[in-house]
Amino acid sequence: MTFSALHQPPARAAAPYTRRSVLAGAFALAAATALPLAAAGRAYSAAVPDIIGCAAWGARAASEPVVVLANRPERIIVHHTATANVTDYSMQRAVALARAIQTYHMDAQGWIDTGQHFTVSRGAFVLEGRHNSLAELRTGTRQVRAAHCVGQNTVSIGIENEGTYTSQAPPAAQYAALADLCAHICDQYGLPASEIYGHRDFNATSCPGDHLYAMLPTLRKDVAARLGMPAPEPAEGSDPIGDLVREATGRPASPYAEYLPAGLLP
Ligand SMILES: [Zn+2]
Repeated sequence: MTFSALHQPPARAAAPYTRRSVLAGAFALAAATALPLAAAGRAYSAAVPDIIGCAAWGARAASEPVVVLANRPERIIVHHTATANVTDYSMQRAVALARAIQTYHMDAQGWIDTGQHFTVSRGAFVLEGRHNSLAELRTGTRQVRAAHCVGQNTVSIGIENEGTYTSQAPPAAQYAALADLCAHICDQYGLPASEIYGHRDFNATSCPGDHLYAMLPTLRKDVAARLGMPAPEPAEGSDPIGDLVREATGRPASPYAEYLPAGLLP
């Protein structure tokens, strides 16, 4: 049984709140001045997050051109980096992390570039991971083929969160940055907030840590709120699809650990 067979996303038509439909609704509202505000629904108004692009953080060139896929992602997958829960919340630290991850993924794993699409630092800085992830996010129609989750690299956006969240929660600012980023990705690609998962939903890994994984129902609700949508199903504390996937896969350990060898980070 394949992951995709277990994890079909809702039909595109079931996501009626894309930026385009919201804008269309706004224009319709403007044209009908007597229309009660409630009739138009809430437009997504969360700010577009600042994302530090590869050029800005000094990424190396990819070893070969990244592959741009002509399909929207079907979901978002949340990871943790399994690095130390540092209290250095500076942008310098965020940049050092992005560089260390890229070095590890290219030189130790042999990948063409950083594996994930985006990285959120403990200090709540959001950085582009694999080249072109940001440009393709802005199109709202394409994605970059990634290397963050076996079986999901052509159909999902991967977000690495700096830290180890087995027994601790991320700092509030980091969590808020993650929620903002997820909401922006959902808005750009027309994804419902229910399509946010943890790495462990697809691969045999502890990622994104028990604590952060347990926060995912809350994250889905918070992202839905940012999108102006009702809280998604399943209800908090229940993840039957994830349970089914984990039960069905029984895979060996994840082919890479989100652990950076000593010396890559200051
Ligand atoms: Zn992971």
